[in-house]
Amino acid sequence: MRDGFAVSEFPVPALDFTPAVEAETRPLWEKLKSRVTPIEWRTQAPLILAINALKREKNAVILAHNYMTPEIFHGVGDYVGDSLGLAREAARSDAAIIVQAGVHFMAETSKILAPDKTVLIPDLRAGCSLASSITAADVRLIKQRYPGVPVVTYVNTSAEVKAETDICCTSANAVQVVEAAAAEWGVDRVILIPDEYLAKNVARQTEIKIIAWQGRCEVHERFTGADMAELREAYPNAEILAHPECPTDVIEASDFTGSTAAMSDYVMRRKPKQVVLITECSMADNVAVDAPETEFVRPCNLCPHMKRITLENIYQTLLTGQFEVTVDPAIAARARAAVQRMVDLPPPLKPARYDLVKARHHVEVELI
Ligand code: SF4
Repeated sequence: MRDGFAVSEFPVPALDFTPAVEAETRPLWEKLKSRVTPIEWRTQAPLILAINALKREKNAVILAHNYMTPEIFHGVGDYVGDSLGLAREAARSDAAIIVQAGVHFMAETSKILAPDKTVLIPDLRAGCSLASSITAADVRLIKQRYPGVPVVTYVNTSAEVKAETDICCTSANAVQVVEAAAAEWGVDRVILIPDEYLAKNVARQTEIKIIAWQGRCEVHERFTGADMAELREAYPNAEILAHPECPTDVIEASDFTGSTAAMSDYVMRRKPKQVVLITECSMADNVAVDAPETEFVRPCNLCPHMKRITLENIYQTLLTGQFEVTVDPAIAARARAAVQRMVDLPPPLKPARYDLVKARHHVEVELI
């Protein structure tokens, strides 16, 4: 047990929905009542107050990913956003403790960028199909097979994998990073791992040849071109936004493609009358709370890993200090260099243009 944390048994003791709790949480209830039932709120409201009190007591912040459920995202998240945005907040924060309301690779990235802070994750089993698709040993073999070819790694990977690579990327800057790496190494091809679909979608936007790994996000790979055709027919006026981890025929059929942060920004700025977000289910729930004028069509897929994080286990984590995420300092230093190399690139002149996917249909990607 960590210093400063009480010994506590799971499950979380019942916290009462008293008139005082009801009154204090009423503004939040007004915001969330279209997403949460009154019965659920009786359990959630006291937990939200207890978590927020524990954060103050322990000098902790909660970094909540866009795929967290609305009561976490809007109720206890101090910083919300996509994985890279959250990692940057981890580095900037003055808090002593970071609770990662997200999956394990995100907590590792926070630890890499904020090595002096205690990073906790409420459920150690919160993994990711992309991150677990590739190991550091795999990357070492890839480097042996393609000597002199730079390795660009998506942030959805373990610290060990990041440590083996030259530079990290996100879905927002992957094209820029691929081109910068090719220029710096003086080559015309780049290894982009581990997401096969992100690699294929990036390949459509650049002259650089892409060598890709066959990892996939189990949430986004399930969307199909046939789903898109059905949506177009059923909702002809809806604007369809898709995540770049989706298959290329899904991207081709969408109106806009971008990271979760870019999708959220699109809805908040352009205020479409009707929108479809081709991504994880909680994303639309969270954006809808702040965009009441937009109607959301919800053909979504749940991420089972993200859904392991609950108000109950966040409360337990703050109470007991379980589960701390650590990264070997030598690995963290090498992984940090790969992340920092990306951060040090100048901002892209233009945002990622996944619409170019539609214009170039015959780009081949070499799959490892
Ligand atoms: S949504 Fe996909 S990429 Fe994100 S954590 Fe879940 S499996 Fe991993």
